[in-house]
Amino acid sequence: MQHDFPSRLNSLPQKAKEVWGSPFNIITEHTILPLFFHFQSKERIEDIFDTVSNNSLGTLKFRLGLVTGRFGAEHPLKACLECLKEDRIKYGVAYWHLSHQYPGVTICPKHGTLIGICSANRQWSDSALWVLPTEDIIASVAEQPICPTVEQILKRLGHSVIELAKLGVSVQFRPEDVTAAYNEAIRRLSVNTEGCIDVEADLASFALQLQPYLPLASLPTTPRKAGNFIQSLTRTPRVNSHPLKHLILITCIFGEFAQFLGALHRFQSLGDQEIPLHSPDHGRRAVDDKPAHGFKGQEISDRVFKKLKPKKLKPQFREQILGCLRKGVEKNSIEERYGISVSTINRILSSDPHLMAAWKTQRRELLLHDHRTKWVSGIGMNPDASPKILRLMLPKIYQWLYRNDNDWLMAQTKRMPSGRVGNYQKIDWSARDRQLCESIELSIQKSKASGTNFPVRASHIFALVPTLHRCLEKRNRYPEARKLLERIIQSAKT
Ligand SMILES: [Zn+2]
Repeated sequence: MQHDFPSRLNSLPQKAKEVWGSPFNIITEHTILPLFFHFQSKERIEDIFDTVSNNSLGTLKFRLGLVTGRFGAEHPLKACLECLKEDRIKYGVAYWHLSHQYPGVTICPKHGTLIGICSANRQWSDSALWVLPTEDIIASVAEQPICPTVEQILKRLGHSVIELAKLGVSVQFRPEDVTAAYNEAIRRLSVNTEGCIDVEADLASFALQLQPYLPLASLPTTPRKAGNFIQSLTRTPRVNSHPLKHLILITCIFGEFAQFLGALHRFQSLGDQEIPLHSPDHGRRAVDDKPAHGFKGQEISDRVFKKLKPKKLKPQFREQILGCLRKGVEKNSIEERYGISVSTINRILSSDPHLMAAWKTQRRELLLHDHRTKWVSGIGMNPDASPKILRLMLPKIYQWLYRNDNDWLMAQTKRMPSGRVGNYQKIDWSARDRQLCESIELSIQKSKASGTNFPVRASHIFALVPTLHRCLEKRNRYPEARKLLERIIQSAKT
């Protein structure tokens, strides 16, 4: 017996059926199964109903592609701590809300707070327990800081998930309509934004925001992987992809689930009129054959129009680009992200002296952090190296600091061993400790400056300060750095 998918519902005693409803009612109204209906074939849906009504689950999760899929087959119980309190006041007891249980719902639709995950009924603990939600079995996530952009994305995805599940059992999407709708949306996006949108890069950054949340850890976060992800949904119509896979793409390219449904209806009505269903390649042809239905004509005229028109940035991209410049983002990354040339970026900068000044200051700050961190890391990696040796090891870093940050560099080199043989005994451990603290603080500042608003965790710091592991291995040294780490980890918890 599992808590997420029911089984053998037909063997429920008549009394239970009278209270809970027929197996059909239980499946469609009280389980997360309806989320898996719409992108599946009719045969597979019949299989779902048959299995959970008459049999044990057996390999159903495998047949649905969950076991081998990127979102996993585990659906931990989830609850919102605010709902929990409200339910107790209202009903005297807290219960598991169906809307919280769907994979991909991470924020309570009612309270907008992060939903907590239950520690019971997991693969590794207390499986098959009858439990009701209480604070002590729900991991407390409600107070975790979450940046507004990420919150918006999580809300949109959760909303799409719930909307899909609400469609009910009678709605099935034809795979070829789905692919056609995706292809049309992607083409429109790039036509309407004059090529400023790179869907792959967009999906990758979208996925990057979602990735810390269960079960979204294995989303594609590089443009190349995002490209493969998109292709797998847009090339050949498929019936067996996980609904979340579709919903990630839908939320990214349509923004709202309703927009996707609208696009889908247009293709569905086309299909109903004249497109017979036989080959798997059908969806692509349905898109390519579009001139008869008026899409392609519009597109072509858009494209021709675009060639004649002087390049003008859409206001929303202009704002985003200005935001990047104010933060001191490198010109090349802006070029890559928004598909505008460096000369356009230079034009934007030179037209606004304040912006230019802000960009230069931020740029310098970031470079300063970057070079200082690398130098301090170098010292940590090579605790016995003299300034001369380290200079030979990191010539570019040394040169940059020598030219741009000389006072700091000189103060650092004074603390380093002089290079004379045998002075190992004279290592100034407290100076080392101070340097390591500085390195940790710099890495935190850097990750804040790059706009990462996630709580800084120990694992982040270890990744950002590569020397940290090695330093901390010296158990009697670095007391200040240890205290600093402790404080950071504690404050991340609260
Ligand atoms: Zn709630």
